[in-house]
Amino acid sequence: MFALTLAALIGAVMIAAIGKMSESALGARMWALGYSCLAVAYAINVFVSSEWNPARGFTYNTMLIAGHTWLLAGTWQFMNKPLPTRTISLLFISIFISTVIFTFLIPIRDVRLVTIGIWLIIVRASFAYCLWQYANNNRYERTISRVAASLVLVEVLATLIYTTNGALGELPLIGKQSGTVAVITWLGALIGIMVGAPILMLLSTSRFIAELDKAAHHDPLTGLYNRRGFFYVIRPLLTIGARQHNNIHVLMIDIDNFKQLNDTHGHSVGDHVLEIAGETLATTVRESDAVARWGGEEFCILTYAMHTDNTIKLAERIRTLFTEKCALLPELQNDVVTISIGVSINGRDGESFDAIQSRADKALYTAKKTGRNKTILYSE
Ligand code: GH3
Ligand code: MG
Ligand code: MG
Repeated sequence: MFALTLAALIGAVMIAAIGKMSESALGARMWALGYSCLAVAYAINVFVSSEWNPARGFTYNTMLIAGHTWLLAGTWQFMNKPLPTRTISLLFISIFISTVIFTFLIPIRDVRLVTIGIWLIIVRASFAYCLWQYANNNRYERTISRVAASLVLVEVLATLIYTTNGALGELPLIGKQSGTVAVITWLGALIGIMVGAPILMLLSTSRFIAELDKAAHHDPLTGLYNRRGFFYVIRPLLTIGARQHNNIHVLMIDIDNFKQLNDTHGHSVGDHVLEIAGETLATTVRESDAVARWGGEEFCILTYAMHTDNTIKLAERIRTLFTEKCALLPELQNDVVTISIGVSINGRDGESFDAIQSRADKALYTAKKTGRNKTILYSE
């Protein structure tokens, strides 16, 4: 019991620390709360008189069920799902009432422990099910959640053994009595916390790092790469492109008279137009191409191993699609929004990105100077 208390306490503190680090560590605060409740529950058994009395039993059981409720709620939140507050409250209230009844009104230990046992099995199983289901984002998170789920199933098994023994009328006191059932139950709970807490910590941390990574490499408004993210993904394309003598085209894209659009319709309409531009680019290019918000109302695309004619076609498709999409925006009151695009191709093998990009910039400048709303391919 002392080991359980300590493990739950350490788990609570560590997960709370991660929860404090970032709002994006979803679920961490609830998990920390869950472990705190469990720590209090186990501490009661260690530090308060060893004689059972209704008040002590009641506090222990309440903390045990509160802890598990928070752990389940935290997992739900971790999965980015809306919290089923009503279901979770109902789950808690029903077992709470049953505990009150079987502790104070009809104090039958076996019935009380079996009801709580069944409840724990249900909650732990749903906890495991949630984690098992959790399989978005990346392989790393998926592996950890699967390990966590398997672990919870071990706990469920231990609870099942304990509860079945309770139903058959031979229930040991966990942590007080030895005996196979007591040891299995105690071990199950200990493994659940000693290994479960670090796993939840890993999950929270991995989520936290993924968010940081995303923020460092993406533009929050359009969801496209920012320059840093763009350079990160184009590096291998440039290396392979040079080695295999493949075409690399750079497209510099700039919204026409955007300052005026902002001034006339307001900054938020401007932002909406930028989102439309981002979405148009992201959905038009191929998976092997890279797209970035270069800054302000400028975007950059790198196409890999594409013929120049097709690159120009792509640019033209982007240009018309964007204007068409903007025409559907009622806030623009029939104002036409256009873009200009400058295109360039790699020259010598191993030419730097900056060299190709600066030619695309020159072509863009020509497009602007010669009336905007057009695509210009760089030529000497
Ligand atoms: P040109 O056709 O020559 O490109 O003219 P322009 O008005 O588009 O170009 P300019 O560089 O003068 O203006 C760019 C404007 O983009 C100015 C700036 O306020 C606006 N801008 C930059 N970033 C954002 C943003 O995130 N949101 C909004 N709404 N506006 C932005
Ligand atoms: Mg512009
Ligand atoms: Mg500009």
